[in-house]
Amino acid sequence: MMSRRRQIYEGKAKILYEGPEPGTLIQYFKDDATAFNGEKKATINGKGVINNRISEYVFTRLNHIGIPTHFIRRLNMREQLIRQVEIIPIEVVVRNVAAGSISKRLGIPEGEPLPHTLIEYYYWANNEEMQDISSMAIRVNDFMSGMFAAINIRLIDFKLEFGRIWDGDYSRVILADEISPDGCRLWDMTTGEKLDKDRFRRDLGGEEEAYQEVARRLGLLTNEEGGPSEVADLSKHRKLRGK
Ligand code: C5P
Repeated sequence: MMSRRRQIYEGKAKILYEGPEPGTLIQYFKDDATAFNGEKKATINGKGVINNRISEYVFTRLNHIGIPTHFIRRLNMREQLIRQVEIIPIEVVVRNVAAGSISKRLGIPEGEPLPHTLIEYYYWANNEEMQDISSMAIRVNDFMSGMFAAINIRLIDFKLEFGRIWDGDYSRVILADEISPDGCRLWDMTTGEKLDKDRFRRDLGGEEEAYQEVARRLGLLTNEEGGPSEVADLSKHRKLRGK
């Protein structure tokens, strides 16, 4: 175990440790979940393992279409090696369908498609960076909407975080944090069933199964007859719980 490495930061769902070389960090995914600014807390068994895999998968595919990200490689079940960035103090929320806070704020029923994709910014960055951030957010949305549609999932909305990396005097914006059911609304295209963190926020139950279902549809979990899976401890969880 790499128990002596230095912890850089601990958030609600992740811990960042010093990486093996300068300019890198290790991102550790916890099973802890919080909502409503930390007022509601719980553990979702296996969430960290699944989010590590889903985020690896999404970031790798985004990288293939030319979106620069902080992801370098997955190290083990709960950890990935990432590039160290200066986090740009902005949260970007992309919305395709009304849900959550926009439904409350504007009184639009949940599930009503918005006339066009909305991008909301919380906080601020400089103008040039905002250009890069908005064009990347649109490309990420187009790509992810298609990627999820192919597995019968409707991408309702999601949150992105960006970082700044320096190369001498020159800086570049890259996608950071994670993309997982913790920060996306994902609804089954046919049934409308929620497959994301709203199951936890709204006490709907079945959050473990929902996260697993997303991973399974992405081809990241093999089913019973599919042979050994890298996310082996989840099938163990399932068996222990008699499913
Ligand atoms: O709550 P709201 O409707 O504004 O959330 C929009 C999207 O952003 C949802 O997919 C939610 O999971 C995500 N989000 C997040 N972290 C926050 C706020 C929202 O991941 N702090």
